[in-house]
Amino acid sequence: MKIVTVLGARPQFIKAATVSRALKEKGVSEVIVHTGQHFDHNMSEVFFSEMDIPRSDYHLEISGLGHGAMTGRMLEQVEGVLLKEKPDCVLVYGDTNSTLAGALAAAKLHIPVAHVEAGLRSFEMKMPEEVNRILTDRISQYLFCPTTTAVENLKKEGFESFGCEISQPGDVIYDAVLFYKEKVSEKSTVLDRLKITGQPFTLATIHRAENTDDIERLKAICGALNYINQHSKVILPLHPRTKGILHKNNIKLDFTPIEPVGYFDMLALLEGCDLVLTDSGGLQKEAYFFSKYCITLRDQTEWVELVNAGVNSIVGARKEKIINTYEQVKGKKLNTSIALYGDGTAAHKIAQRLSSI
Ligand code: UDP
Repeated sequence: MKIVTVLGARPQFIKAATVSRALKEKGVSEVIVHTGQHFDHNMSEVFFSEMDIPRSDYHLEISGLGHGAMTGRMLEQVEGVLLKEKPDCVLVYGDTNSTLAGALAAAKLHIPVAHVEAGLRSFEMKMPEEVNRILTDRISQYLFCPTTTAVENLKKEGFESFGCEISQPGDVIYDAVLFYKEKVSEKSTVLDRLKITGQPFTLATIHRAENTDDIERLKAICGALNYINQHSKVILPLHPRTKGILHKNNIKLDFTPIEPVGYFDMLALLEGCDLVLTDSGGLQKEAYFFSKYCITLRDQTEWVELVNAGVNSIVGARKEKIINTYEQVKGKKLNTSIALYGDGTAAHKIAQRLSSI
């Protein structure tokens, strides 16, 4: 039994860490193809070393291109790897160009595709992620859904008649948080480095194209963060894309952003913060796992169960709305006892299924 995993972006390294470990335990041979989409040390290598992800067997070094060129080159090169490796299955995660290229290369060669994080929808086709995830789902044989909503989305779109296998093992990000948070106190020094141990602070991230490529939205979000920073120090690990755009447009921050951090540092920041503001998918759920309220800087979310549970507000990118929501929800006590994302054994269930193909 041989699997080729295609990945390339930060959230995929985090998801793959849990599944790769489970595959190894099951004796499945895994070949890892890193497309190169994220390449900075602190966006890529740090996760491989900290999280014990097996070294990539192929590094395609494809990055910094437009969507079409990037996806096209990945498709071509992944096809070459698949022809050589002849795997029984190709495993992809999430919704990036690497996800789509890996799935498409496999489907054209009639190799079954397994998609982890299947069935998520924002219902906004202008999001590159939405296009990637819908197309990937459609050509996948094994659809591993993190939530009940994801399963329902697939059913509504007629997937039950497509001959694929839909299952709901839970969310591998929950597995990752449970596994790695045990080691945070030993491995992370970020709170001391930033001199915020025991102090109140707010954790923020911004990286989605809908916010970074629209300067008015980016300015409004930064304006709101500048306001919040007067009340609770804002810590913002800055995505390289956002960094470039802030710099180019001279957008003023009243707080000092930090470089992107590794996973242990991120978990320490989540543990220590009072509240999260983000446009990230993964971070919305991680805020829940650490019982922190999340203000989502987007117009919609794929993680609707968080909104229904009263722990996440979708505020978009209007400065007043962000500030008003912050004032309303800061200090709010949360009920995070409901298991919205499974029981922490999603990776094990996925590996179990894939090992028996
Ligand atoms: N993350 C990290 N270091 C950072 C910022 C984010 O380890 O400096 C983690 C975060 O905890 C989450 C994942 O990266 O697990 C989210 O990645 P991102 O926001 O880039 O992508 P998305 O989840 O929106 O697909």
